[in-house]
Amino acid sequence: MSKNTRVPGYMQSKAARNARGIIGDREIRFKCSLQNTILDVLRGRPGWQEVPGPNFQQQNMQQNSRPAAGSQTSTQPPDGKGNKTGSTGTTPSNTQNSPATSGGKTGTKSTMSPQTSGPQQQSVGVPNRFGDGDWDFYWCDREWLHQNYDTMFLHEHQKILHFRNHYELTRKNLMVKNLKRLKKQTEREQGKSEGLSFDFHPTTYELPSEYHIFVEEFKRNPGITWIMKPAAKSQGKGIFLFRRLKDITDWKKGEYQPLTDTTREVPETYVVQRYIENPYLIGGRKFDIRIYVLVVSYNPLKVWLYRDGFARFSNTRFSLDSIEDAYVHLTNVSVQKNAPDYDPEKGCKWSTLRLRQYLSAKHGSEAVKKVFKGIDNIITKGLQSVQKIIINDKHCFEMYGYDILLDDDLKPWLIEINASPSLTASGKEDYELKFGLLNDLLNVLDLENRLTGKEKRIGGWDLLWDDGPVLADDGNMECTTNGTSVTTANSFLGCHNDRKRQLREIYTSAQAIKKT
Ligand code: ADP
Repeated sequence: MSKNTRVPGYMQSKAARNARGIIGDREIRFKCSLQNTILDVLRGRPGWQEVPGPNFQQQNMQQNSRPAAGSQTSTQPPDGKGNKTGSTGTTPSNTQNSPATSGGKTGTKSTMSPQTSGPQQQSVGVPNRFGDGDWDFYWCDREWLHQNYDTMFLHEHQKILHFRNHYELTRKNLMVKNLKRLKKQTEREQGKSEGLSFDFHPTTYELPSEYHIFVEEFKRNPGITWIMKPAAKSQGKGIFLFRRLKDITDWKKGEYQPLTDTTREVPETYVVQRYIENPYLIGGRKFDIRIYVLVVSYNPLKVWLYRDGFARFSNTRFSLDSIEDAYVHLTNVSVQKNAPDYDPEKGCKWSTLRLRQYLSAKHGSEAVKKVFKGIDNIITKGLQSVQKIIINDKHCFEMYGYDILLDDDLKPWLIEINASPSLTASGKEDYELKFGLLNDLLNVLDLENRLTGKEKRIGGWDLLWDDGPVLADDGNMECTTNGTSVTTANSFLGCHNDRKRQLREIYTSAQAIKKT
């Protein structure tokens, strides 16, 4: 069977491919910096062809035991954030000389398979027929974008992951700064009560710059728990909880003593944040919710929300007695998987569908409706807070991972926003979620030009914001866990995701519209 007919529901007729506009009747050329689910998705996509990128260079280095031409060692990106995504860390350059051919046809092995972390078979020594900028779609890492964006010229049709200054939202200190600014502006323009809709992130200060204001706040609230987090790290690295100012002054001494070691860099920026002491517990355990949000434009703001996400549970029962125990307080999978009694078979995730069903059964649909409305508000306010700051570029898109925590009043809190949510699957179910999520992201971007551009739902993605809130179609009964419609916003987080059936429908109807 040819590659073009492998996936049901995709129109790959000659007529459809001819309708592709600027790319025309040729394969779509992609580059990818990562070696996880996204690479599987891209390699498995009908009509898409891989062009040499960091994966090629790394694979060739591994196979030939010598560096690929022009490859460089990685450096920290300007936002300094550690890479969560399994980026190869090599910088693509001078791929003209790369001795590899496209791997697009060489296999679509699952990232869950142990083989996939190793090199995949490439034919070495065959000249590359693509130039360095000769791609239509690039899933690059942030580091690459920082190094190249300012000097690169993008053609009309090219699409690339990340906006230039995405860190305005994804660095913990900048996110809070931007939210505080929009809140103040809203209060000024629309009154104090409107400002209340911004009260979804715990009280936060940047250290060392706001140390003195923090100390005042600390003294006003004796006995409460605070959490310290490096502003630009991820996966729970460098985080600790404390209740006594002494704990932080000791830390402060260590961090901010005059530098005797001249090789040491300037002190790292931290945020100190009020710790949510009353998280909503299931089975006595704390969890947070990972939600996927796709921004295809900041001006006008156009936002899609994916139906599936997951709750990440801690492995150990919650208690405030042991604030030094990361397995109790940090729900990151990267932390929990190191817990002594972690069971990789059972894992520590629930789908958002399961979570929504659980909450509905326990608290009723009205309460759950309020929770998910609150989450929609967090998503849009977060993006609006940087809408004027982000360098909008029609070539760029961003898939964010929002981390939300519920407290025991069912109030959702924003913990952080990631620009590179992990795409490495932790199990079969997780792989299926991520594979569908990424495939549908490509369906939304629609480089094949197979849709009408008016769709409000594409696979598992629902259009949440299109220069204003998007409402669900009248009589839309899809967002149900018990047979009733639960919201009028076009938001279906935690609802049934019958993405394949939905894709078949929209592709058939778009084809019919395009024919007439
Ligand atoms: P990282 O980027 O290192 O993952 P996060 O800000 O996401 O840092 O925090 C890691 C984990 O710590 C979260 O997943 C959550 O479980 C917990 N956490 C972070 N901030 C708070 C807070 N203010 N209250 C309660 N738990 C928190």
